[in-house]
Amino acid sequence: MSGVISLAHGAGGLETRELIDRVFTRVLGNDYLAESEDAAIIPVGAYAVSIDGFTVEPIVFNGGNIGKLAVAGSCNDVAMRGAKPKFLAASFIIEEGLSLDVLEEIVASFGAELRVNNALLIAADTKVTPRNQGVSGIFISTTAFGEVILEGLAAKNLRVGDLIIASGSIGDHGAAIFAAREGIELESGLKSDCASLWSLVSPLIDAKLPIVCMRDATRGGLAAVTNEWAIAANATLTLNESAIAVKNEVKGACELLGFEPYSLANEGVAIVAVRGEESAKKAIEIMRSSELGKNAAIIGYVGGDYKARVVLKTPHKTSRFLDMPSGELLPRIC
Ligand code: MG
Repeated sequence: MSGVISLAHGAGGLETRELIDRVFTRVLGNDYLAESEDAAIIPVGAYAVSIDGFTVEPIVFNGGNIGKLAVAGSCNDVAMRGAKPKFLAASFIIEEGLSLDVLEEIVASFGAELRVNNALLIAADTKVTPRNQGVSGIFISTTAFGEVILEGLAAKNLRVGDLIIASGSIGDHGAAIFAAREGIELESGLKSDCASLWSLVSPLIDAKLPIVCMRDATRGGLAAVTNEWAIAANATLTLNESAIAVKNEVKGACELLGFEPYSLANEGVAIVAVRGEESAKKAIEIMRSSELGKNAAIIGYVGGDYKARVVLKTPHKTSRFLDMPSGELLPRIC
């Protein structure tokens, strides 16, 4: 097999078989995939299902690559619904000419992140597209199936007094991708926060804390999540800017971008709403005991005078609306 992907690798014949065996099955194989049927059969039960397409540019970045991102991103979406990631289905759309070494690195990360989640790839497809016809390098679409452990998490259940927690510092992924595109990643030290979140939130569920809802703050960042919640609950979300962790490197990148960090994507930050102050404090204590949640903080609460809006209280004792992000922002962030 030569060192780059060719169209023959996508033709469904011998070369496709060879690509799948060498790059995919060797790393991601299991009993479900070994059946090699047209569909995998999964056990019956309550499952949370989420699909996502990953087109991030560059495909390898500081803190991860598109393979890690695809698994973490999809698994996080079911985790945020109180479901333990179990199974993944994936479509790999590969551009002719992609280096085999890069593909193998991406698939290795994909496999490693599945193991982090203790999840299995049970259905997969590969396609190869001719150069310069839209796909740049590789696109990955993933569907995650999570076994529901805690039912009923929903933003519409938010009530006045509920507390809002952010599990980590804000804007790292978006800023890291921007820096990589601009070629300033090495000096800046910016690193994507790309990580799987089930291990962070499952102890909260195990502790039977009254969690109202959870969301990973991906595209649109903290601003999108909190605005979606404010709209869903028809309530005000009030955030304390001084409680929101933002790294200096991220602030610096934001100045270059002309963005605010609250609109930048995160790929390893959970926003969690908890009922009751004692419970929120307990949640913080649990989160901070893990590396992923060491910067967890209560950043705000449900309550205020403006229905379906997010109010940001600044350190200067003024306040402003934090609006839903709009416009182009950064394309191909995830
Ligand atoms: Mg999400």
